[in-house]
Amino acid sequence: MPPDIMSSELGRVYQKTKAESRRLTADERKRERQTSLAEWQKKWDTAEKGRWTHRLITNLPAWIEREHGETDFYLTQFLSGHGCFREYLYRFGHDDGTGCSFCNSAAENVEHIFFSCLRYEVERSTIEQLINERMTPDNIVSHMLQSRLVWAKMKEWAAIALQELRLKERQRRNERPGE
Ligand SMILES: [Zn+2]
Repeated sequence: MPPDIMSSELGRVYQKTKAESRRLTADERKRERQTSLAEWQKKWDTAEKGRWTHRLITNLPAWIEREHGETDFYLTQFLSGHGCFREYLYRFGHDDGTGCSFCNSAAENVEHIFFSCLRYEVERSTIEQLINERMTPDNIVSHMLQSRLVWAKMKEWAAIALQELRLKERQRRNERPGE
């Protein structure tokens, strides 16, 4: 939770405890937490950075209070869009082009890799069979939160894809003259 929101929650709890000279009940604390989450959601909806992540994780309380779903290095790259994607590397001068390493039919970014690149049709259709609809950036996280299996499959796929992309990146680097 952002420190300013956490801190105002602690402030409210402290003030109330002092005013009523008693500890807050579990329900009262829960209400304060809900107020904080609502504040956080508002910030989340209007933040300028992290729009990709916002598109995936639209419902912040559902994400934060999820009962399953470990993230790791690779799933985090999927969720943030920051990883070995050529478009991302190129932006920071770490690559000499943006075309997809596998199909070269579009810019290689997180959305292309997971939602349209032919390279991952098998992984994508495995997920789509589980969720019974086309997977999109707007629905995938909600499906991951509803199903442990979908979560696990996405996590597995993210690891495969991001490791392959990393390998591609290394190969290109080795082929570039002077590096
Ligand atoms: Zn592609």
